[in-house]
Amino acid sequence: MNIDRFIAESSTSTYPSLRLTAPRTCVRVLPRKSDPDLPFVEVYRHFLQDYITVPNFIKAPQCLLTPECPGCELASRLAAKGNSEAARRVSAKRRFVVWVIDRTPTSETNGKICTLEVSPSTKEKFVSEVKRWHYDFVSLDSGCVVEILRVQRGRGADYDVKFVTQASGDGSFRIAPDPLSEEELREYENLPDLEEYLASLRPSLEDFRRALDLSPIEEPLPFSKEPEVVSEQATISSQEVRPTTQKEKVAPPDLPECFGSFGVEKKQCATCPFQEACLTELMSKGDVAKDE
Ligand SMILES: [Zn+2]
Repeated sequence: MNIDRFIAESSTSTYPSLRLTAPRTCVRVLPRKSDPDLPFVEVYRHFLQDYITVPNFIKAPQCLLTPECPGCELASRLAAKGNSEAARRVSAKRRFVVWVIDRTPTSETNGKICTLEVSPSTKEKFVSEVKRWHYDFVSLDSGCVVEILRVQRGRGADYDVKFVTQASGDGSFRIAPDPLSEEELREYENLPDLEEYLASLRPSLEDFRRALDLSPIEEPLPFSKEPEVVSEQATISSQEVRPTTQKEKVAPPDLPECFGSFGVEKKQCATCPFQEACLTELMSKGDVAKDE
């Protein structure tokens, strides 16, 4: 194996990935040139920090979205062994990515263009703010700064999303526009297409497999660390079950759609067999901190 090539191929992006670790993060979301109405791009990611121990390979690689995806295969193998909890944790999770300029005053990447990745529930909070204010928050000249507040929830974290406002003369609050500077506009013009950029960060099948193979973990770890993200249940397709030496295969767990939102469907919750796991899921909901 050519180690240098392996490391170079697995190296990090040219744009920093903004991490929502601080209690307050401020971003200026940028529109996508190819589709200014839809700034968010969907990705699926496997969180494999307990399975990929080889250095210099991303611990949370994007799902390859093919039946051969090594992350999906790992989830299927764990499910086949009856370890549905571990299978659920490593199965691909839906995420949303946007281009942003970091406007957090104390941040290392302040003023820089970064990618920001959030869970579906945090993306919904952006949608709620747009509905509340009916405001084009990504517009290059009249878009606004968005404040993301991290709220600790049990072992995980939840995020509140607020458009930054200013008091006007009559005592009411209005959105404070944050026009891009000339330099920022030039940088924006040079931005690659977000979908293509994200695709370029996806590991090759070969490297992904090798990273898992080089990490000598036979059995799943007990997840002593805080889960980094458990945002949405991804189903494990039976087509993705890789043939194993196991004689018997156990079908992947068939979780209800409302899994992780305990209390929303109160009537069903009382008799639901997934009650306990659902509560655990709810407690551990949060966004990824460690990323590319
Ligand atoms: Zn996958």
